[in-house]
Amino acid sequence: MADRDYGFRTRAVHAGNVPDSATGARALPIYQSSAFVFDSTEDAAARFALQKYGNIYSRLANPTVASFEERVASLEGGLGAVATSSGLSAQFVTFASLAGAGDHIVASSNLYGGSITQLDVTLRRFGVETTFVASDDPADYAAAIIPGRTKLVFAETIANPSGDIADIAGLAEVAHAADLPLVIDSTIATPYLCRPIEWGADIVVHSATKFLGGHGTTLGGVVVESGRFDWSNHNFPLFEETVAHYGGLTWYGNFGEYAFLTRLRAEQLRDIGPALAPHSAFLLAQGVETLPYRMQAHVDNARRVAEWLEADPRIETVNWAGLPSHRHHARAAQYLPLGPSSVFGFVVKGGRAVGQGLIENVTLASHLANIGDAKTLIIHPASTTHAQLTEQQLVDGGVHPGLVRLSVGIEDADDIIYDLDQALDAALKGASA
Ligand SMILES: *Cc1c(COP(=O)(O)O)cnc(C)c1O
Repeated sequence: MADRDYGFRTRAVHAGNVPDSATGARALPIYQSSAFVFDSTEDAAARFALQKYGNIYSRLANPTVASFEERVASLEGGLGAVATSSGLSAQFVTFASLAGAGDHIVASSNLYGGSITQLDVTLRRFGVETTFVASDDPADYAAAIIPGRTKLVFAETIANPSGDIADIAGLAEVAHAADLPLVIDSTIATPYLCRPIEWGADIVVHSATKFLGGHGTTLGGVVVESGRFDWSNHNFPLFEETVAHYGGLTWYGNFGEYAFLTRLRAEQLRDIGPALAPHSAFLLAQGVETLPYRMQAHVDNARRVAEWLEADPRIETVNWAGLPSHRHHARAAQYLPLGPSSVFGFVVKGGRAVGQGLIENVTLASHLANIGDAKTLIIHPASTTHAQLTEQQLVDGGVHPGLVRLSVGIEDADDIIYDLDQALDAALKGASA
């Protein structure tokens, strides 16, 4: 290591990667191997018992995956990270580590749809109950905590399509007052725009599928931990109890600040199994090398597009918190001074017909269900993900029939605006025909 704290851009390129000691390869080698040879029977036994660091089997750890983990941990300012096969599996292993049957989670009601169903359908069926808080006030999260049963507080840095910003410091205060960890899904922000650990979050999860990988090629997830949470505070007895299947160690006693991450790997990855593939880790790590440059381009373009939309008479509202008109503009300035990323919704005048017509007439933007690609992406929630609901249910659920969600890419902003402009014209002509 240099006698210098490297900057964000340097770490995006170098963290977790040194020239390969065996071959001199400068790019990150893809260690496409399910398992790793032991030095001796003694060595094998020590690795299995977690008495010695070393690779065993790629469900638990793999050198290419480890490089990606170290890179993201460095950028988030965390102690370490565990990568998984998707964003939802990153959340699942985290929840499964901290909560079991009879336990309770307090979460924002404004989460990614798959996160809502993971908590509300699958985890509820396993006996983990979630209270969804429909407010952005940390006091309402505090009121939802059930002493002795709640195990974590969960929210997203930037929600979509509302563009709402979490009060991370306020939520951390509420969680810590109850001796609970604050878990933040920071997928849409990425560590370039916001580092939740600096605001008091204990665990940060990502869908690396989105901006971290950045090119719409690869599914992956990652869990980063600060190393600051006290896992011996008696709310989490599993960290202090003797672990028979690992020779009588205790997670907290033997691993201290590494207790959560070590257990996540040795217990949740072992038992649940959503390992990140080495080839995927390579692609995601490659994407992260240019994260600062891409995110800057994403927010610069988002600002241009959001300001253009807001000034356009064909548009009713724009949910980008970088605009002074957004209810969380001040929070965005506090937590995301470089800009609140590039995923947001906007409402077109004329409702469903014009919203749908807009999507049908774009030629540069891609109509698909993803975000965080270098390419501009667009979707009309009322005719896709929420198509089965009535107009009234859409309004009640905050999904206006004319709402369009945009993930602004890194193309020329003028071309993105040109495309939206001509598609709006065509949609209005179609609607009045
Ligand atoms: C996409 C997404 C997820 C789920 O990630 P996958 O990689 O698709 O499993 C979770 N949270 C947010 C905010 C997302 O956008």
